[in-house]
Amino acid sequence: MTVPPTGPRVCVIAGGVGGARFIRGLRSHLDGTGATITVIANTGDDVWLAGLRVCPDLDSIMYTLGGANDEGRGWGRLAESERVSAELDAYGVGWPWFTLGDLDLGTHIARSSLLRDGLTLTEATRRLCARWDLGVDLLPVTDDDVETHVEILDPLDGAVRTIHFEEWWVRHRAAVPARRFVQKGIASAQATPEAITAVLHADVVLVAPSNPVVSIGTALAIPGMADAVRATAAPVVGLSPIIGGRAVRGMAEACLAAIGVEATASAVAAHYGARSGGGLLDGWLVDTVDATSASGIEELGLRVRAVPLWMTDVDTTAAMAAAALDLARHPVGDRAR
Ligand code: GDP
Ligand code: CA
Repeated sequence: MTVPPTGPRVCVIAGGVGGARFIRGLRSHLDGTGATITVIANTGDDVWLAGLRVCPDLDSIMYTLGGANDEGRGWGRLAESERVSAELDAYGVGWPWFTLGDLDLGTHIARSSLLRDGLTLTEATRRLCARWDLGVDLLPVTDDDVETHVEILDPLDGAVRTIHFEEWWVRHRAAVPARRFVQKGIASAQATPEAITAVLHADVVLVAPSNPVVSIGTALAIPGMADAVRATAAPVVGLSPIIGGRAVRGMAEACLAAIGVEATASAVAAHYGARSGGGLLDGWLVDTVDATSASGIEELGLRVRAVPLWMTDVDTTAAMAAAALDLARHPVGDRAR
């Protein structure tokens, strides 16, 4: 088969670490095919810290695709040091439990400088990414400051408090039950025209195996995003971030519990819903251990296939991406298994 000059446009909606690993596999699978990849990243975990705009999910994707992330830790920069954050600690500035490495701080300083110069987050992200050879177009879902906050009962005095998502996730390790998530700033926010266009003009839209609540859920809650996903002519295929009733890495179960969704591949599929029923997906990949749940998910109006979904290395992840794209090619109603 000859490769067309412009291959398919693949659009991925993603969170940080799970999203980044998946996109790296997708990029490997599509390498040399002429396909283009546009990534729409969650910005709900973003925070102003020590005067700097920190965008954890954008940076996880940028570092992972740029080959500069710390694979052992799973986040942050390779060969990192922490001299600057020790100084910030000494001044009592920032969050002592949220360490920002020196190289990582360089990114946040550069981003904040670009934002202070009047660039949008989309433009600033493009400038930062120009340094790395990512092979994808990386877009924040919105240029507006929208931050996920978590309503908890303070374990000390029982009072209702609202804390930034990162405080709940990193400081409390999601151990304090979340009563609900609040997206601060969302009422006046909009998805960017670039993100909406990427969804509407895509040939395939993939929903990465990312946290369904605070990564994908927040991205899709930005006004304009879910409508674009419902409206696009492209097939929309998601990959389950839950395998055998467990979030594979991280603590996504705690987020699902807060919104009353069971931590299973089928409950997350039902939560996203089938586009034929007003939801967001046409197809759903589950892990082989969840194959028995496939027929129940198909009854929701989704095409389902069971394949290995552990992103153990780039080749395994590339095979997942291939399976997702293959599922997207099957016409609606086709039994894909
Ligand atoms: P974060 O923003 O850094 O939390 O990252 P994401 O939201 O992109 O992804 C986190 C979620 O990805 C986890 O909660 C898991 O449910 C999922 N995940 C992580 N690793 C894997 C994997 O190897 N396979 C699958 N299917 N899901 C994974
Ligand atoms: Ca995140």
